[in-house]
Amino acid sequence: MGVTGIWVIEEQCTGCGVCVDACPFDAIRINEEGIAEIDEEKCTLCGACVDACPFDAIEMKRGESSVEINKGDYSGILTFAEVNEGELSKVALEMLSAGRDIADKRGTKLYSVLIGGEGVEKHAKTLINHGADTVYYIEHKDLFHFHDELYSEALKKLVEEIKPEVFIGGASAVGRALLPRLAANIQTGLTADCTELDIDTETGNLLQTRPAFGGNIMATILTPNHRPQIATIRPRVMPVPEEKDRDGEIKRFEFDPTPYKISKIIKEAVILGDEEVNLHEAEVIVSAGRGVGSKENMNLIYEFAKKLGAAVGASRAVVDAGWISYPHQVGQTGTTVAPKIYIACGISGAIQHQVGMRSSDIIIAINSDPEAPIFDIATYGFVGDLHKIIPELMKKL
Ligand code: FAD
Ligand code: SF4
Ligand code: SF4
Repeated sequence: MGVTGIWVIEEQCTGCGVCVDACPFDAIRINEEGIAEIDEEKCTLCGACVDACPFDAIEMKRGESSVEINKGDYSGILTFAEVNEGELSKVALEMLSAGRDIADKRGTKLYSVLIGGEGVEKHAKTLINHGADTVYYIEHKDLFHFHDELYSEALKKLVEEIKPEVFIGGASAVGRALLPRLAANIQTGLTADCTELDIDTETGNLLQTRPAFGGNIMATILTPNHRPQIATIRPRVMPVPEEKDRDGEIKRFEFDPTPYKISKIIKEAVILGDEEVNLHEAEVIVSAGRGVGSKENMNLIYEFAKKLGAAVGASRAVVDAGWISYPHQVGQTGTTVAPKIYIACGISGAIQHQVGMRSSDIIIAINSDPEAPIFDIATYGFVGDLHKIIPELMKKL
């Protein structure tokens, strides 16, 4: 890596203070001499002040990468087709809608890769029918269970051979464990948890948009100097493309996991006993907030959810209070959901909660405070005590 740093050109600084307001990390102050001064401990080299300064008085140099690549060697879009314990996941199909869109704009091919135990190629035609042009499958009995180290080695080998310019996968538990490991392994950039993707058709730069700074802004991130550009996309953000009978190629890709030194052997995968947690797949979610009041009161939410055939979600406040386990948490640091109906019970609607559920088709809010921000995004709202409203609703059901 080259020299990295940021400094103020004192002769050009007028002390106007624009940079102080622009810095999201509170890393700049105007010193006694009326000159901007940067606290290097706090500075993240985000560059916001460099762009904001009207007098070009701040200079920044980021380290150059030691990896030199020829971007012209890379083409095609690759998606990771996640298979869990032999079953193709829904997020694998969602990646194809994002990938197809980018591939068509760029006038290139859409590849998809399956990794799993023997017989995993049975999913290849489904991927083709949902938009893939070529499906690579990597099959071995030791790859039946997801293994981050082995899967990452297999993908490294594939990526080095086919050289896609973009590689995308779901921001599921598997995608979040696997793709950063791969990105580090092949020394490229990764943008996690995107909610939108586009491509600059001229340069091939992927425009990777995701919420930043607590969901208060949407940041579009580029990986201009490295290939492939890797991104994970939140489940349920992209639609599943329509299935049509299509032609495509199915290719076996050889990978032998046996010589690799690994830190763990996965003998068995056990599905969590918490059977109601499948928030990604649920069409209706009843979600509990601090307004529920106590762990005992959660029984009302469980009953309501059962009556509706719904999964149970929760705000972080409820998870932090120990009323329900973390896998139920919806939001920025929990799961992103987009069911047909999301019922927020006693949830204020903080931005960090909203980013995880605002793509739901219908949002119903039950809250005693008519000013609660959840009502800003609710399709229907009940103002009042949830302990009275939910039993009334259950009677009607
Ligand atoms: P509160 O904000 O306390 O709201 C409770 C609501 O219940 C109030 O609106 C009140 O009017 C209502 N109420 C009270 N009694 C009743 C009643 N009897 N009947 C009806 N309504 C009633 N939060 C998440 O949810 N998910 C995340 O992933 C997440 N990630 C975060 C990440 C970061 C970095 C940070 C800083 C915060 C994060 N948060 C997250 C926390 C978030 O900011 C809020 O604090 C949290 O969502 C609040 O939860 P709540 O709405 O249940 O509680
Ligand atoms: Fe100085 Fe530029 Fe900051 Fe103004 S914005 S205080 S000129 S560094
Ligand atoms: Fe603040 Fe970013 Fe400028 Fe550093 S680079 S001083 S963090 S605005």
